[in-house]
Amino acid sequence: MRITRLAPSPTGALHLGNARTFLINWLLARQNGWRIILRIEDLDGPRNKRGAAELAIQDLQWLGIDWDEGPIRQSSRLDHYRAAVEKLLRSGAAYPCVCTRKEVDAAASAPHADDGASIYPGTCRGKFKSREEARAARAREAAVRFNTQNATVDFADTFCGPRHFDVEHQLGDFVIAKGDATPAYQLAVVVDDADMNVTDVVRGDDLIDSTPRQILLYRALGLVNRIPSYTHLPLVVGTDGRRLAKRHGDTRVSTYRQAGVPAGKILALLAKWCGIELTRDPEKAADLAEQFSLDRVPRKPIVFDPAGGADAAALQSPAG
Ligand code: GLU
Repeated sequence: MRITRLAPSPTGALHLGNARTFLINWLLARQNGWRIILRIEDLDGPRNKRGAAELAIQDLQWLGIDWDEGPIRQSSRLDHYRAAVEKLLRSGAAYPCVCTRKEVDAAASAPHADDGASIYPGTCRGKFKSREEARAARAREAAVRFNTQNATVDFADTFCGPRHFDVEHQLGDFVIAKGDATPAYQLAVVVDDADMNVTDVVRGDDLIDSTPRQILLYRALGLVNRIPSYTHLPLVVGTDGRRLAKRHGDTRVSTYRQAGVPAGKILALLAKWCGIELTRDPEKAADLAEQFSLDRVPRKPIVFDPAGGADAAALQSPAG
C-alpha cells in the first residue's frame, strides 16, 4: 500500500500556489490508489494563525480534495519527536548547540546556503556531553543540531531528476530541536512520515533542500528502508519571480470562495497550470483525474499576476 500526505502549515491561508501543489498531490494519489493522510504541521507556535487549519480544511473540501485519514496535528505528537531527538543525541548523530543566531551569522567564515541562511560553522560540534552541560556552560537552553560532517546524499526526484548534495558544505549542521525543546520541521516530518508509513512525498520545490537533510535523519534513525519517493514541483510565482505571497495581492482560496467565485473556476485555472486542456469547467477535483499527467506539468514556475492578465480575469466573481 502506498501512502502520501497533504501537510498544510497553519501559518497562513491556502493560496492558489499551495492549492495547485495539493491538487497535484491529490490527483497523483487518486490516479495511483495511494492512501492520503491529512497532517496539520502546527509546530511553529508563534507563526500559527488562529483558525488557519480549519480554513484550509474547508478550502480543500470545497475544491473536492479529500483524504482517507486525519487531520492529524503535529502538536499532538510531541512525545514521538522528543524520543527521536533523545535517540539522536545518545547515538552522537546530533549534539547540543548554544550558539545564538547572531553568532552563527557573524562567524567570519559563515557562507550561505541557497536559501540565504548562514551555514553553521560547527562551533558546538563535539563540545558538550549533554544538554545540561551545554546549558550550564552558557546559561541558556541548548538547541540540538544534526551533525552533517562528511555527509553526502544522492536521490532521484520523480520530477526534478537526480540530485546530489554535499550536505556539510552546501547546507551545514541543521537544527532538529529548538532551545525551548520544540522539534524543528525537518525532524517532525521524518518522524511522522516514517510512523505513518508514507511512501510518496509530493511538495513544492522550495523544500528540495530539505530532502537531503531528511534523508540523513532517516539514516541516523535506522529507517533507511523507509525513505519515501520524492516529487518536488515548481511553484507559482508573482511577476517578480518570487513565490506567490501576500505582497502580490490576495490570492487566498477562501477569499475567492467567499466572493462567490465557483470552485470550478479555481479548478479550471489550477488545471491549466498543470498542463491540462479543458473544454469546460470541472465541478470538482475528481473531474481532472482522467486527464492529469505529471509529464504534462510545466517544468518552469507558473507566473501569476493577481492584478491583471487572462488568469486573473478568469477568477472574477460573478458580481464583479
Ligand atoms: N508543511 C509544509 C508546508 O506547508 C510542507 C512540508 C512537507 O510537505 O514536507 O510548506
